[in-house]
Amino acid sequence: MLRVTVRSFVTLLVLAAVSAQAGEPLTYIKAGRLIDVIGGKTRADQVIVLQGDRIVRVAPVADVQITDDAAIVDLSGHTVLPGLIDMHDHLTGDHRFHGYQSLSISLPRETLYGVFNARKTLNAGFTTVRNVGASGYSDVALRDAINDGEIDGPRLRVSGPSLGITGGHCDNNLLPSGYHDVGEGVADGPWAVRAKVREIIKYGADLIKFCATGGVLSKGDSVGGQQYTLEEMRALVDEAHQHGRKVAAHAHGAEGIKTAITAGVDSIEHSSLIDDEGIRLAKKHGTFLVMDIYNDTFILQHGAEVGMLPESLEKERKIGQLQRDNFRKAFQAGVRMAFGSDGAVYPHGDNGKQFQYMVDYGMTPMQAIQAATVHAAKLIGWPDDVGAIEAGRFADIIAVEGNPLEDVALLEDVRFVMKGGKIYKN
Ligand SMILES: [Zn+2]
Repeated sequence: MLRVTVRSFVTLLVLAAVSAQAGEPLTYIKAGRLIDVIGGKTRADQVIVLQGDRIVRVAPVADVQITDDAAIVDLSGHTVLPGLIDMHDHLTGDHRFHGYQSLSISLPRETLYGVFNARKTLNAGFTTVRNVGASGYSDVALRDAINDGEIDGPRLRVSGPSLGITGGHCDNNLLPSGYHDVGEGVADGPWAVRAKVREIIKYGADLIKFCATGGVLSKGDSVGGQQYTLEEMRALVDEAHQHGRKVAAHAHGAEGIKTAITAGVDSIEHSSLIDDEGIRLAKKHGTFLVMDIYNDTFILQHGAEVGMLPESLEKERKIGQLQRDNFRKAFQAGVRMAFGSDGAVYPHGDNGKQFQYMVDYGMTPMQAIQAATVHAAKLIGWPDDVGAIEAGRFADIIAVEGNPLEDVALLEDVRFVMKGGKIYKN
């Protein structure tokens, strides 16, 4: 079956090529400059050969015989790189509604935001996204609708509701007791936590997200304060891993970070106040850090107007700069890092703005791109399917004008987006 939708004239050419080829027709992408994220180098004048939704060959132009009737996508004036991966996003959230304003949004409306934001994020060049926290399994519905081809969006791995303690960052503390409002993922005690993990998996989660410390955009908790005991975190991680699910721990404070790493989580989200011992432990356990170091800028500039509580802005002023300094420190110490931006805190589609910050705080452009491709592919659990332009992987391919290795901010303006051999933006 024909999976490649290029322009209609190309489609006709593809159809013409069917008779010449066994199986699905081939498409040839001419890449003026190709970023090889596995080798950490660029290659000039390459051809990427696609069949169906996968890449079948990557080779220099001179080595590839392209027949006259073949489908060709000409990106010879562009830099071509693998589709980007954001490991920390909330597609069903909207940056305009924080604090008490968030209470006015219904669950169906959140799901519709998800539809809108999934397309926006895909068009920004992010062909794979890990969604870490959503209400009412709206993220599961979003993932399934994308997979079934009903709406456009990135490949998704989703967590469902985030687990957390009563009154913690992953609960909802905005309303007084008479409203009896309890976060969907709230569970206290090792067995209740295990039961909640089972429930979340039952309803379709690909991974488990929980809050190991307080947070910025929540009411009444300290941003660094640990939430859950080691015993509870161990039960949570053990249960999730037993069902083949990875675990992402939201954690800002040093003690909560260390406890979560000791409990065996796969990634620490935010990691703002990680200390030397935490860095040592993350290296020892191979734990990924997913540090969202762009959104501080948005929170401090626009937080008040989008309803963020005064206490949230105060917390951000306390930890924003420390998080960026600790990003540099942890990266230089050799901790594994994957790109994650916390979309919904800032406007969806601006994910690429974080690259410049990653470079400002110690990475080379290549290292920042690797964090959003080949390294993220490992953390999300698709190490051989996404994250690089290589035979056998999905044809998730983007292109920019100019050289992002000289100016990484070019990744804020992605001109071409292909996911699974289908062109979404050209
Ligand atoms: Zn988040």
